[in-house]
Amino acid sequence: MSVPSTATRRHEELAEAIRTHDYRYYVLADPEISDQVYDDLMRELDQLEKEYPELRTIDSPTQRVGGAVTREFDSVVHDVPMLSLSNTYSEEDVRDFHRRVIENLGVDEVAYHVELKIDGVALAVRYHQGTFDRAATRGDGAQGDDISSNARTIRSLPLRLRADASPPERLEVRGEVVMFKDDFLRLNEERDAAGEKLFANPRNSTAGTLKMQDSSLVAQRSLHVFMYSLIGNVPGVASQSEAMAFLKRCGFQVSPHARVCHNIDEVLAFWRHWEEHRDELPFEIDGVVVKLDGLRQQDALGAVAKSPRWAIAFKFAARQAVTELEDIVYQVGRMGTITPVAVLRPVHLAGSTISRATLHNEDFITELGLHLGDTVTIEKGGDVIPKVTAADVELRKPDAAPFHFITECPACGTALVRPEGEAAWFCENVECPAQIRARIAHFASRNAMDIEGLGEAVVDVLVEQGFIHNYADLFLLEARREELTALDRFGERSVSNLLAGIEASKSKAFDRALHGLGIRFVGQGVARILAQKLRSFDALMVAEIDQLEAIDGIGPRIAESVHRFFSDRRTLALVHRLMASGVTSEMPETATSETLPFFEGKNFVLTGALRMFTRDHAKELIERFGGKVTGSVSKKTDYVLAGADAGSKLDKAASLGISVIDETAFLSQLPESMRTSEDAV
Ligand code: NAD
Repeated sequence: MSVPSTATRRHEELAEAIRTHDYRYYVLADPEISDQVYDDLMRELDQLEKEYPELRTIDSPTQRVGGAVTREFDSVVHDVPMLSLSNTYSEEDVRDFHRRVIENLGVDEVAYHVELKIDGVALAVRYHQGTFDRAATRGDGAQGDDISSNARTIRSLPLRLRADASPPERLEVRGEVVMFKDDFLRLNEERDAAGEKLFANPRNSTAGTLKMQDSSLVAQRSLHVFMYSLIGNVPGVASQSEAMAFLKRCGFQVSPHARVCHNIDEVLAFWRHWEEHRDELPFEIDGVVVKLDGLRQQDALGAVAKSPRWAIAFKFAARQAVTELEDIVYQVGRMGTITPVAVLRPVHLAGSTISRATLHNEDFITELGLHLGDTVTIEKGGDVIPKVTAADVELRKPDAAPFHFITECPACGTALVRPEGEAAWFCENVECPAQIRARIAHFASRNAMDIEGLGEAVVDVLVEQGFIHNYADLFLLEARREELTALDRFGERSVSNLLAGIEASKSKAFDRALHGLGIRFVGQGVARILAQKLRSFDALMVAEIDQLEAIDGIGPRIAESVHRFFSDRRTLALVHRLMASGVTSEMPETATSETLPFFEGKNFVLTGALRMFTRDHAKELIERFGGKVTGSVSKKTDYVLAGADAGSKLDKAASLGISVIDETAFLSQLPESMRTSEDAV
């Protein structure tokens, strides 16, 4: 039977769409559609190929694992391919899966190891003689990226295995790297403050982080890894549950909350439980993975093209709710960016009441074709932040008016501009009251000057009443204590607290003051780098663009923005006023001239016989780059640097889940110029 041309055409369309979405998801870490919509496309393609097997070519998306290797890293060939998982959203499919397993194995009952499906990025890690050897991404399943230096910074990844678990000479372990939800929110806050593009969800930010070229930046992003697979045979390990127990003994953090289920109803109950309680976990999960527990049984079933036959992912449906779009309001950021926000009839979704959702920018509104009063779907997928995903055209009232993006600033009335190549509209009036308020609130915010008692509401009152016009004015408030106390909303006590908070902020670290200035593209991390390298406002004022660009971690865009800020008469005047008020305007002399993020503020414990360094020298290096060395391992320890024959300190570190590094790993964190051991000693 020949394939009808309509089927061929549809097949091409679907395959092309899936390839595009794969690229956005795996390579750009910037998906456009929800996982459920993607999975529907894939299911349709699979169905079509079942009907017309000629369409199932070897390069069809149904036959290939979705990722890709990138050019930025060395690629490595996996000894054992890294497969994907077949997935479903339906209970019936899970029961079918169980029926097939029973039938194919010819048994009456089986045990399943049921695990959380952690929504992160897969990592394969190899160990040689108990020591970290290499870490790679899944890539296209056959080949991945060698991201060893980034993986080494993950503190829950042991660089040396516990000897008492007797790991084999060669060991490969696989697991999922994640960023915890609160770290993700903090990172996005920071990116927002720096005017950078936000990550859609923790999975995307994990993928983006693992692909960074500078491992010291990766180290700042506290990633975690949970292991769920042991490759190869280990004596005494005959099941997935025993494999997990073995990995734990080796010192790994394994996928938590897993359990063995003896029938399919127990499996479904586990799924239901986590569907309901997923928000209580610190990381995102997108379903559960049901794995046949017996390893021999797994081998007996084998795999199809891109997934094993002995496992299935039972995913959670995207959490959706339908509500009414009551209005669109516009927020003005401190850089003048206008962000449209949907005002929704409050609706309950996944444990919280949602009444607002971001609409990103004009194009987003146009693509959705939103009209006033539309019935819209909002979704909380792998995303922490809900978003509007569709409007129901059929339910739209005939006289409903489409939304047109505003043309004037809602706060000051200035005509908005949309620079070429930008998605956002801007209010360019630096005197715009909304921007003034937002800039002062940023200066006072937790990651900048952290001024107690100066939240957004207080800023609003102070600006409205004419007490302050910019952040430098904050330091003149002490002289107006009585006027402030006379204000309706402030009591004597709160005025005292506020003024004490402002006074205390003067002695906050220099990088906080620098971050507080609100320079475009200068978030917390960049402020820290600039503070360490240039060390004072005075130096920043005279720094040339080339000099800024030469700093590791500072690109042309940041350099240009910093230079512009310190060359502008108005912003310079503010900096001078801050300096005159006694705000910290330089790094203290006593600080090391060059701290490194890997060491900065970290507690190290040294143990065992070091080969490349004397103990004193290792200590000196740690302190020189901003760390501390203590005598015993405790919860406060960040790293244990272990030489040969290390003893009880290693056990203690393993029991507390503290990362153990060897001398090679230690060496790799030192500046390039010090990496040969002769130089280091
Ligand atoms: P997957 O993420 O659905 O499942 C396989 C992966 O699950 C493994 O590689 C592993 O990383 C992870 N995993 C988590 N916990 C695990 C555990 N306990 N045991 C084993 N593995 C575990 O599959 P995939 O091939 O990585 O990606 C395909 C899925 O990604 C699609 O089904 C879709 O939902 C999503 N996707 C979405 C888009 C989009 O545009 N929205 C594009 C491509 C892919």
